[in-house]
Amino acid sequence: MPDRKLELTVTDLKQHAYCERIPYFTHVLPVEQHPTYPMQRGKETQAVVEALEKRRGFRGYGLAGGRRLFGLSLQSERLGLHGRLDLVVVTDEACFPVDFKDTDGPVRSNHRLQMAAYCLLVEEAFARPVPLAFVYLISRREAVPLAISGAYRESVLERLDAIRRSVAHEAFPEPTAVRARCTGCEFRNYCGDIW
Ligand code: SF4
Repeated sequence: MPDRKLELTVTDLKQHAYCERIPYFTHVLPVEQHPTYPMQRGKETQAVVEALEKRRGFRGYGLAGGRRLFGLSLQSERLGLHGRLDLVVVTDEACFPVDFKDTDGPVRSNHRLQMAAYCLLVEEAFARPVPLAFVYLISRREAVPLAISGAYRESVLERLDAIRRSVAHEAFPEPTAVRARCTGCEFRNYCGDIW
């Protein structure tokens, strides 16, 4: 049986959608991970965006007002899930998670899954509905609204179960079908079967 108590992160979910092997490596094998250049850069840009964001109004979010909470650590005992959210805008009626994105590429399905996980965490933490999430595109200084469907929320629960099953049974997942992802992957030395 999967270990219901195995604590997972929003990053595990996002990585699982990218390649199911990555959370396996993280939780089953003692693979040492190093912060990548994008991770380092992300920390630096976060500080800059926070400073800019504090001076902005709420019109970019289609809201009359609200309260901003930056760098929020969220945890759900019920889901066995935690994560750190860049920003949440809180109003009397609802909450709006915001993720800062440092690239111009389109919002992909693994990103929507990540936001669905934050929606679940925010709904539980604030006991308020989350009608919309936003991806804040740093280069364009634009907040793009994302309606997170029930299918993505369901997918969060299914993937949490799938990761726990894989870890509990030490079942090595299939590689991603998108082999272009393997070229720059920090785990490629552990995936001898794909080359
Ligand atoms: S090398 Fe490819 S298959 Fe292996 S973990 Fe990375 S993305 Fe997945």
